[in-house]
This record gives sequence, structure tokens and C-alpha cells, in this order.
Amino acid sequence: MIESTVDPQKLISDISVKLNIPIRESAVIPSSAIIFSPELLECCKTNVCGNYNKSWTCPPACESFEKQREKILSHKNALIFTTVRELEDSFDYEGMEKGRMFHSMLTIEIKKRLAGALVFGAGGCPVCSVKDGISEKTACAYPDPCLFPEKRIVSIEAAGINVTELSKTAKVTYNNGQNSVTFFSLVLFDK
Ligand code: SF4
Repeated sequence: MIESTVDPQKLISDISVKLNIPIRESAVIPSSAIIFSPELLECCKTNVCGNYNKSWTCPPACESFEKQREKILSHKNALIFTTVRELEDSFDYEGMEKGRMFHSMLTIEIKKRLAGALVFGAGGCPVCSVKDGISEKTACAYPDPCLFPEKRIVSIEAAGINVTELSKTAKVTYNNGQNSVTFFSLVLFDK
């Protein structure tokens, strides 16, 4: 839960400066404006990202779409923020993974500072895989019990949130140009 005295947008900006991981854009929208597309969860089954059946925060192990939607809509507002990674070319998978890692480091720190807040990140939970600037793709304890249930960060996509529509609603750029990748996170609060 975010204390009412905390300005979430200022907080994430301060953490971004402290970690030297720049936020490209951020915006606050009412959570009721979030557009859900549960059919997108069907795409998870194709396992393009490699997290299907590998993480507690991705299908089929994550909470149901209905339960996640209910939790999101129980909060008044949503803060969206993005980071952008420039790539050498569209095959620069190492650059993409590095970008995801830095975005995840920022999201993990924000969740830590907002203990108890509902936070969604880019891809499967990064808590056990991102440490000290190193990322290991398959470090989730799944199917063994989650090591840090209170810290875990759920995938935006696995909540059935349509990120393209989210970017339009929040007026945050979805695509920052050829040879770049944009990562999204979401923080729910009631202020
Ligand atoms: S905290 Fe660790 S074990 Fe739990 S979901 Fe995240 S990565 Fe998996």
C-alpha cells in the first residue's frame, strides 16, 4: 500500500536518478481506464518469451485473469513508466536482454520502496534472476515454492493488460523508433 503522503511519480523519478536508469516517460491514469484483452493470454501458450510454465507470475501458474483484473480495479490510479534501450540492430538480443534487466532493476527497487504495492513489470518475475547487473533468464524457483512471495512482480502481459492500448490511454510512446525497445511497468495506488 502506498502511503497517502508519497507522490509515486516523484518517488520513481528519485529512484531512477539514484540507480542511473533513466525513465523515458511516466503518466498516471485512473485504473478504470485500463483496457484488458484476455485473449492475449492465449499468446503466452506459444512461449515466445520462454516464460510459459517457467515462472510463478506467468501462465499457467499465475493468478487467473479475473482475479488479477479485480485486484487492479480495486485501486484508484495506475502509474505507468517506461525505459528505452537502443539496439545495434533488430537482432541485438543481448541488447534487448540488457534493457530488460535494467528496467527490471528499476521496477524491483520501486516495489521495494513501495512495500505492499501492486506492481507489474515487463515479462516474468525478475526478482530471483536479476542481481547486481547480471540477469539469468530461468532463475525462478518454479515449480518449487516461490522464494519471495511478498516481493514478486507479475508480468503486465500475464495480467491480460493490453500494453498498446495502455500506451494510448496514458499518452506514453509505445514504439520509440527503429532499433529500440520500450519496456513498460505499472504501479497501482489509491492517492
Ligand atoms: S520471487 Fe523468485 S521464485 Fe518467486 S516468482 Fe519471482 S523469480 Fe520466481
